[in-house]
Amino acid sequence: MQAEKFDNMIMSVLLLITLVVILLHTFSLDKSYVLDAKTKSPVYAVSDEGIGGTSIAKLIRDDDKFILQCEIKASSYAWPFCEITIAIGLDRKRNFLSPVDLSQFTDVIVKAKYVGENSTSLRFQLRTFNEAYSSTTDDSSWKYNGLEYWPEAVSTSTTIPLNALQVATWWLFDRKIPIKYAGPELENVLVVELATGNGIQPGYYQIELEKIEFVGKVFSNKQVFLSIITMWALAAIAALILNLQRSNRRLVDAQNKAKELKQLNKLLSVESNVLKQQVERDPLTGALNRIGLEQVLTKSLENVSMIFIDIDHFKTLNDKYGHGIGDEILREFTKLVSENSRSSDFLARWGGEEFLLICPNCNLMEAHDIAEDLREVISSHSFTHDIEITASFGVAHRENETTANLIERADLALYAAKAQGRNKVVLSENVNLF
Ligand code: GH3
Ligand code: MG
Ligand code: MG
Repeated sequence: MQAEKFDNMIMSVLLLITLVVILLHTFSLDKSYVLDAKTKSPVYAVSDEGIGGTSIAKLIRDDDKFILQCEIKASSYAWPFCEITIAIGLDRKRNFLSPVDLSQFTDVIVKAKYVGENSTSLRFQLRTFNEAYSSTTDDSSWKYNGLEYWPEAVSTSTTIPLNALQVATWWLFDRKIPIKYAGPELENVLVVELATGNGIQPGYYQIELEKIEFVGKVFSNKQVFLSIITMWALAAIAALILNLQRSNRRLVDAQNKAKELKQLNKLLSVESNVLKQQVERDPLTGALNRIGLEQVLTKSLENVSMIFIDIDHFKTLNDKYGHGIGDEILREFTKLVSENSRSSDFLARWGGEEFLLICPNCNLMEAHDIAEDLREVISSHSFTHDIEITASFGVAHRENETTANLIERADLALYAAKAQGRNKVVLSENVNLF
């Protein structure tokens, strides 16, 4: 849930940024480049005088505008004109200085008009440099990117989209310009020109130029589009990486949890085994107690024999050596019997110094042999403090009877063994004979 919240937050932030960028781009972040009476670039009047014509142009620079006074005269020169030249990329001596990049602008607003009786069209022109075909010293090698228009009679302000400019075809023809350079190029502008139009008749003309303003956006649509796309793409990649890391972490967490659970299970099973031992085993000797015995006897064991064992004269031993030694003997006795019976047999402490050995898959005679072996091992064993003891054995084979009955028969046989002088093995079958 936390991660999802984080994702949603990032998404909202990205959306907000996108919206803000688009709004800013659309409604503000404008830039402009203004040429007016305050411009520091050299501004001068040019006419056909000197290139074959006789027209005269004179420029007056007012506080807030330029005034071009133009006397168009008929001559042998076919295209008489007057022009205001603003040399934004040239120095005062009209030498090449440094071109201005106007390619990022979208429109140019020309605030100019004819005043007085005569008026005709205006030609707006940008002269640009490209080292592929231009020379810095020959101004006729500078490209003509221009447009001729009729200034509005009322509004003196004309907005010209810069992509409406066209390259003069006579210039392309004269200079043998390759087709790939035939289009307008506004990266290296040297001169901005405002001139009288084509087919002008002889006479006096006066042009007032207040301002030429190039306008555009700080960032192009392409730049904005690319940066938004890039931002979203980066965010998508980051989200992908984050998600991968998250699922990896989740996997590791799950693995750790599974490991923990496994360990806990192990611990529980160890603990439950310990508890089981505590419940089913006699704390002094480690042999099964009566609960444990009951568990064994309820198992579906087949061909079961039971050997009832009772240590002889244990009271006397206790009296002689003390209860502590007696306990030690009981432990040693248990160990000795376990070691000398089959691994499939079960030894239980019935109480005091009495034990029951349950032998599955064991007929009466086999049980007798086991008892006999045990009797011998015990009587020949040297217990702690070199004490020697004997034990008596009563053996019975389980018939179709209750456990209590089986125990009683084994107990009777044991009783008989005691009666016969102890350190004896007596079979339940033979009990009635004595
Ligand atoms: P018998 O040969 O007839 O079996 O004689 P016995 O002395 O072995 O039998 P008896 O039933 O008279 O005495 C059993 C003795 O076992 C009595 C008691 O002091 C002793 N005893 C019972 N439980 C324990 C025990 O947990 N520890 C010790 N040290 N002695 C025990
Ligand atoms: Mg005894
Ligand atoms: Mg006894």
